[in-house]
Amino acid sequence: NDQLAAVDPEVAAAVRAELDRQQTTLEMIASENFAPQAVLEAQGSVLTNKYAEGYPGRRYYGGCEHVDVVEQLAIDRIKELFGASFANVQPHSGAQANAAAMFALLKPGDTIMGLDLAHGGHLTHGMRINFSGKLYNVVPYHVSEDDHRVDMDEVARLAREHEPQLIIAGWSAYPRQLDFKRFREIADEVGAYLMVDMAHFAGLVAAGLHPNPVPHAHVVTTTTHKTLGGPRGGVILSSDEEFTKKFNSAVFPGQQGGPLEHVIAGKAVAFKIAAGEEFKDRQRRTLEGAQILAERLLADDAREAGVQLVSGGTDVHLVLVDLRNSELDGKQAEDRLHEIGITVNRNAVPNDPRPPMVTSGLRIGTPALATRGFGRTEFTEVADIVAEALKPGFDETTSAKLRARVEALATKHPLYPNL
Ligand code: PLP
Repeated sequence: NDQLAAVDPEVAAAVRAELDRQQTTLEMIASENFAPQAVLEAQGSVLTNKYAEGYPGRRYYGGCEHVDVVEQLAIDRIKELFGASFANVQPHSGAQANAAAMFALLKPGDTIMGLDLAHGGHLTHGMRINFSGKLYNVVPYHVSEDDHRVDMDEVARLAREHEPQLIIAGWSAYPRQLDFKRFREIADEVGAYLMVDMAHFAGLVAAGLHPNPVPHAHVVTTTTHKTLGGPRGGVILSSDEEFTKKFNSAVFPGQQGGPLEHVIAGKAVAFKIAAGEEFKDRQRRTLEGAQILAERLLADDAREAGVQLVSGGTDVHLVLVDLRNSELDGKQAEDRLHEIGITVNRNAVPNDPRPPMVTSGLRIGTPALATRGFGRTEFTEVADIVAEALKPGFDETTSAKLRARVEALATKHPLYPNL
């Protein structure tokens, strides 16, 4: 950081303050994680200087011999990790991966089906003002009112009625696993492609703790920075080599120019780490943490405070707290946790009566804390802190006490001690 501080003290100060924020608070945004220092180093490397339009061995620029090595390592490692026969590691983000995958398989005006944003889907699955909602005819499907699980009967009914060209299975805020086999059967029945967006749960899949969508889908997209724990970015995978050319040309030159080879280097490192035993143990603790959180937030005192869980629990790395019966709305609850040093995001619950900037829910995830080393003991403590914070009668004394407990946990598991 010395050069940065010398050249640009303002940016250096903000970076330092952000490091301090990450070190001293507890990160529970379900889509966030802490990239290992090796990944940060790869990302901060001279690879950022290199233009490499094209693919390893087939570039439009000279001097690509070293970035070719890096990109090929990333491709080979992620194929191995998920049992895919094709990988494109160039998408700059998850949204870019989705845009390219859809660009490859669809024409403007085609019909797509995705989980409604208000029920846990992602912007790129057909939100009105996203490219997906503007370019394609969107038929959203939903979770059912009684158990908050994706209503597969509705998916089948809508697919038969609208005959989409693409069905997207995946989510940003949903605490359960999806039935990929059933999705594929429905897609096959109506002649649609199936795309699974595993951005959120890819790390769990890599660790063998969640069903793998790759054998079921025509295409699988993911981000690399959520449970997977790598640099911010996207990937497209397929088990069908028939699509190789389509997906590659949809990414470049279809959607992007030069790939971010410094980020791809970070991806390669992250995929290597994700194949190891430490990563598996981390994903196991991630799931255990979410279970502990769910149990604590389902206890009597939490229920009396109006806290409920969407779908009544979790199978993944997050819980969705339903505050419709609480004195707090999503925004107030998010602010309250922020005050004691826990970062989460407010989130709509299915059929939320409040607007998206307020909401009646919280999305709370465990990947970042598992990366920090949290296990059963620490997750039990953090779950209790969250439950206490959401109770009525929260005042300055409670706030100070909870903040001290948060600080004790953060101190016990230092983050980036060498930075
Ligand atoms: N897909 C899903 C399911 C996501 O949850 C997200 C991010 O939240 C994305 C795609 C988009 O990823 P990015 O923010 O990298 O564009």
